Amino acid sequence: MEIKEHNFFSNLAGGHSRPFIIAGPCSAESETQVMQTAEALREQQVDMFRAGIWKPRSRPNTFEGIGLEGLQWLGRVKRELGLRVSTEVANARHVEEALKQEIDVLWIGARTTVNPFAVQEIANALNGANVPVMVKNPVNPDLALWIGALERVYNAGITDVAAIHRGFSSYEPSKYRNVPLWQIPIELKSRFKKLPVIVDPSHIAGNRELLLPVSQKALDLGFDGLMIETHPDPANALSDPEQQVTPAGLQEILSKLQVRKTNY
Ligand code: PEP
Ligand code: MN
Repeated sequence: MEIKEHNFFSNLAGGHSRPFIIAGPCSAESETQVMQTAEALREQQVDMFRAGIWKPRSRPNTFEGIGLEGLQWLGRVKRELGLRVSTEVANARHVEEALKQEIDVLWIGARTTVNPFAVQEIANALNGANVPVMVKNPVNPDLALWIGALERVYNAGITDVAAIHRGFSSYEPSKYRNVPLWQIPIELKSRFKKLPVIVDPSHIAGNRELLLPVSQKALDLGFDGLMIETHPDPANALSDPEQQVTPAGLQEILSKLQVRKTNY
């Protein structure tokens, strides 16, 4: 993988001058919730809006996403508020629908990255598309699987790739929902020096209290950006209620973060 110095993601970060911020709800739930969140985030230093439309959940009988209808709402955020928009794709049909709606950036989730055939099917659907793609680490701490997924996407002609570190599941009790095992994304960065690596403190922490220290750690380690789940009413969110923050809560976190490193 030959990552270009100035790609979509480095431009988001002002040509590496600062970490970039992606925020928005875990799941798009209603048009009002999406628009309300996006309007509040537009006033902040947020570079891109996120919302899950298709949600591969670990257990059945949980909210698996609003589906196609939600793409229209992301389209509205893009057109009416001028924010870039991103969503998760878990199969080829998702890619086709997201590209039709001109979603700016797609990402592959942790439960999909573990499956090479699923990733390859997504990569095949991406072939010829001009869309940046972010690849979350697999749920298990397997660097080769993470790199393999990035390569499959890259080999399909998507040179604007980024990785998202969202922590790894563990059976051991931990204060984290997904243990960070920082040495793994550090190793990824050392092998692919220009690959943008974004940290997702929300899925690492699993609670609001740890968002600030995990975000600060990510910046201290020189990672390129943060993805933080933001919801107007986190306690009543249909997915991940413990870890989402309100737009005001996000603003507070961002204001406390210290960008000490100069090597963005
Ligand atoms: C998400 O970003 O909402 C999500 C489902 O994350 P992950 O794939 O990291 O579990
Ligand atoms: Mn989530």
